Amino acid sequence: MKQSKSVVMGVFFIFLLLVLSLLLLVRLQAANHLPRTAAASPTPFFSPLPVTASVSAAPEETEEPESDLPRIDITGWQYTLASASHPIGDYAPPALTTLEGGHQFDSRAAVSLQNFIDGARSEGLSVCLSSAYRNYSDQSYLYNRKVQQLGGDYEAAARIVLPPGTSEHQLGLCADITDQFYEVKTAALENTALFQWMQEHCAEYGFILRYPADKEDITGVIYEPWHFRYVGEEAAAYITEHGLCLEEFLELYE
Ligand SMILES: [Zn+2]
Repeated sequence: MKQSKSVVMGVFFIFLLLVLSLLLLVRLQAANHLPRTAAASPTPFFSPLPVTASVSAAPEETEEPESDLPRIDITGWQYTLASASHPIGDYAPPALTTLEGGHQFDSRAAVSLQNFIDGARSEGLSVCLSSAYRNYSDQSYLYNRKVQQLGGDYEAAARIVLPPGTSEHQLGLCADITDQFYEVKTAALENTALFQWMQEHCAEYGFILRYPADKEDITGVIYEPWHFRYVGEEAAAYITEHGLCLEEFLELYE
């Protein structure tokens, strides 16, 4: 009887020891585990770059980045879109100023165009103002002539000469500028010193290259290294810096 009692006590003691060591093991595991995750968090596994500024990638600390988008009234006249998807009907500018060669431009931007041309000339470049404002009937004539030249293919014609009411030449805010010694309007115009200067400096005068080569699918117009559009200096600087076309820029305000 006495012997069996001490056996029970022994078994109980062993059981107690087992439970205690198990508890100790769990505590040790937990203690070991915690600091490891804490140490791992400063270097997020998804970032290949060294973490510079802060240790935390906590969402509450991410602030909306300050937008450098110009604070302009996008409904202003200088941002008007004229394209196949944004027809302007028989719109005409409120006032026109006649420049060299009898070409006309919206009076509100005529000085800017003149300064742009003068700026190029002051660099010794040979500027030819080839086309500027075209009214609705001028555009009709050009479009119909192109349709005829292409054997009645309206769609093909529209990719070269825009149908009346869809050309921004009708806004009086764009100009076709070519080199006096290279007046042909082809993509090769981009090789002239004139184009290279104009592309680099147009934004300073409030102009953009309206139909860039890599935006044909957005503008719906072929690459035109001669066609410059007035949008004002702020918008021109932003558009040029960010490599946008006018459509993409306007979309940022929607
Ligand atoms: Zn043009």
